[in-house]
Amino acid sequence: MDLIFAEASPSGRGGVSVIRLSGPGARNAAESLAGALPLARHAYLRTLRDGGEIIDQALVLWFQEGASFTGEETAEIQCHGASVVVRRIAHALMARSARPAEAGEFTRRAFLNGRMDLAEVEGLGDLLAAETDLQRRQAMRVLSGEVRERVDRWRRALIRMGALIEASIDFADEEVPDDVPEEVFELAQALAREISRELDGFQAAERVRNGFEVAIVGRPNAGKSSLINRLARREVAIVSEVPGTTRDVLELRLDLQGLAVTVLDTAGLRETGDQVERLGVSRAAERAAAADLRIHLSPENQAVSDLWTPGDLLVQSKADVVDLRGELAVSSATGEGIERLLGSLYERLQDRIAGAGMVTHERQFHELSWAKQEIERLVPGQGAEITAEHVRGAAASLDRVVGRIAADDYLDVVFSSFCIGK
Ligand code: GDP
Repeated sequence: MDLIFAEASPSGRGGVSVIRLSGPGARNAAESLAGALPLARHAYLRTLRDGGEIIDQALVLWFQEGASFTGEETAEIQCHGASVVVRRIAHALMARSARPAEAGEFTRRAFLNGRMDLAEVEGLGDLLAAETDLQRRQAMRVLSGEVRERVDRWRRALIRMGALIEASIDFADEEVPDDVPEEVFELAQALAREISRELDGFQAAERVRNGFEVAIVGRPNAGKSSLINRLARREVAIVSEVPGTTRDVLELRLDLQGLAVTVLDTAGLRETGDQVERLGVSRAAERAAAADLRIHLSPENQAVSDLWTPGDLLVQSKADVVDLRGELAVSSATGEGIERLLGSLYERLQDRIAGAGMVTHERQFHELSWAKQEIERLVPGQGAEITAEHVRGAAASLDRVVGRIAADDYLDVVFSSFCIGK
């Protein structure tokens, strides 16, 4: 293993920058810069020197092998937050045989050294990406090992089943071989039910993690852009306003009481002769159709019929100047009805995250589904050997959920989402 380092804080100007140094020789390299670091997990104020030159004054912390984030010996340098200081320290570390870390390399080492399981790594990634409080809470549950605890419990049930089957093979009556005890199938049924419940909660949990997409649809001049602008002015709600992935769809990110919601303005939804524009319009319509929910907006309180899906919201626009007909009416001019609209939206979306489970990633979902399928194959009458084979298959799938067995390319995918310094 190489000695690696990276700035763990965001780069740029700030009060303090944190540089992490991990791997064999971390202590020597840190002491050669900072002087003696006698006690682990203590902070020392040190003058950093390189070849007689003073670089900076910094707090230096030292973690022993087996008691750090990566599991390796690690030093953390908290220097003044100027990129030129960070660069100078990087230079001094490279002169001491350290190399810059790759994206996610610290976390990868934490995983390889058994400090975190793969689900926890995914939880950490989610936490770093979390925008809303609900996302933070969900990520923390995964990061704190909830998936592993559950998986370990299921694994213990499989081990018990395996033992019962073994015993039936060992003591089988010559006349009645492969007589698998009934208890195995009872355990299997209970296990399959529990795993099913977790799988059922996946979609909801995934929505918490990735957020919802809500499209505002309606004919031209219905007031869609005005509504999205009005929503964007509610400063408490705004996370960011970014141009859409296509030029026809504008996206607004909202934090709706913890739900991450991307509101799509499909203002491009109109008939047009221009070919390029037509392409954009059909893309916008596809996005709107694929969204979790549509707000159908018009001064006449009419839905866009070919996009209407049960659960959508019908909203009358321009409430300040039209005869009110609908239950939900908004005016982007006066702000009337906006809070009610957001309240209704929240209620509908919140319903869809009820029962959110701890399975938050597609990868975990697939491995768990495999485990469940294997367990469902545990039925009487097929002999002890085959039954035992399915138990082993289920255990292997459970192991993959937390990455006890994992191929390298698999890990590359997981860690590629991390940035340098993590
Ligand atoms: P879009 O084509 O659906 O995006 O519609 P716009 O948001 O561009 O609005 C079309 C026209 O209706 C503009 O002239 C707006 O100023 C006007 N408009 C939009 N919302 C309201 C509203 O709540 N009240 C009033 N009085 N006019 C509105």
